[in-house]
Amino acid sequence: MEFDLIELIRRRTAQSRDDVRLGIGDDAAVLAPPPGQELAVAIDTMVEGVHYPPGTAPADIGWKALAVNLSDLAAMGASPAWALLALTLPRPDPEFIEGFAEGFAQLAQPYRLALIGGDTTRGPMTISVAVHGFVSPGKALLRSGARVGDAVLVTGTLGDAAAGLQLLQRGGRIDENDARQVFLLERLNRPTPRLSTGMALRERATSCIDVSDGLLADLGHICVASGVAAEIDAVLLPLSPALHDVFDDTAARDFALSGGDDYELCFTVPAARVAEVQADLARLGCGATRIGRIVEGSGVRVRDVDGQWLETAGQGWDHFAA
Ligand code: ADP
Ligand code: MG
Repeated sequence: MEFDLIELIRRRTAQSRDDVRLGIGDDAAVLAPPPGQELAVAIDTMVEGVHYPPGTAPADIGWKALAVNLSDLAAMGASPAWALLALTLPRPDPEFIEGFAEGFAQLAQPYRLALIGGDTTRGPMTISVAVHGFVSPGKALLRSGARVGDAVLVTGTLGDAAAGLQLLQRGGRIDENDARQVFLLERLNRPTPRLSTGMALRERATSCIDVSDGLLADLGHICVASGVAAEIDAVLLPLSPALHDVFDDTAARDFALSGGDDYELCFTVPAARVAEVQADLARLGCGATRIGRIVEGSGVRVRDVDGQWLETAGQGWDHFAA
């Protein structure tokens, strides 16, 4: 499409790297991956009204489109390097592109991530970002390594993004003067990919996944891939003060168990290494909370605050739910 738009994106996201021999501007990018490293590659698409609410600021959309992808690299323990951007817009919209590129660049720059190319077309608003990262051979964190006896941990706090979305859906907008509401919406719009945590977990975690569809659903993926079951204690779920304040206990627990869009890491480590791993992660800033254990069997069970097992039929976000 319009060359101007591509040029605008190129300028706003400029980031030079030695391993980018040729970036935006030719028929393909030419890259020089570091010798001896493996490439971790992921792609995610965002559709307005499905992956972010209509009315979301362009800069937030740009941030989030990259963040959800970097979160996938984080979950693999990979270090990010390059990204591709496929933009489908209903009309050429420089104002949108300005904002989008600004949010994208804010997240990309600290990681020296280079936007190396993409595609720009006209149609219903859809944004796809692909990312590429490096990881030492055989060291990527997989979903399949959880073992009976491992502890289950999660970074940061859970349920904030889903709570933020509910605030929006309930009121149409949030109260800008309420710091707790602002925090929850920020967690929805500006998720923090846990990249340094993911890299620190290499050779420590036995399995890892990022929580995009809700803890139950995503921990369920670890269980299936690893051939094990997990038991979670609801009382141990890390909740932010804001979530705790704004919603009642049951709602907060349900957001933490089933809400999507947290982009925290859920991972398993041998029980004997929990303290050491927690101390290392605390030094990195976001910390991690032990929430349960891996046991024999299949599925994820949740022990509620009162000690009873919870019914957990609705496991999380279903991509094809109405
Ligand atoms: P071609 O028709 O050869 O695919 P395009 O006109 O689609 O070329 O793209 C020209 C250059 O601009 C390419 O290097 C492409 O990777 C880059 N590009 C196009 N759209 C985007 C975008 N949304 N973000 C980043 N780079 C883009
Ligand atoms: Mg093209």
